[in-house]
Amino acid sequence: MSIKIDRDKCISCGRCRNICPGNLIETDEAGKAVMKYPSECWGCTACLKECPAGAVRYYLGADIGGRGGYLFTGNHSDHTDWFIVSADGTKYQIKISKKESNRY
Ligand code: SF4
Ligand code: SF4
Repeated sequence: MSIKIDRDKCISCGRCRNICPGNLIETDEAGKAVMKYPSECWGCTACLKECPAGAVRYYLGADIGGRGGYLFTGNHSDHTDWFIVSADGTKYQIKISKKESNRY
């Protein structure tokens, strides 16, 4: 698993940098997020869930059949859209309520 940040989509909010528990993300002189230590990422998805711009891509490892597939999110006040893009470009969408997501 690894994270890549789309510089063109990034709106320089700094939220991913602030939420990463490993301090693996930095911001450059323009405030754009930069993944500084990709090999250190353990895939907690916190940055993915926090990004308001859908700029963080979470690449799925070959060990779970990723082969270039990735996730990204669309954040809304009451729910998060999780988009899964498979290696062949097929896109799936899962809507998860923010009220319900932490209930167990
Ligand atoms: S997935 Fe978790 S550990 Fe990896 S960069 Fe994002 S917040 Fe940091
Ligand atoms: S949370 Fe998203 S928009 Fe904000 S700095 Fe990080 S990548 Fe850019």
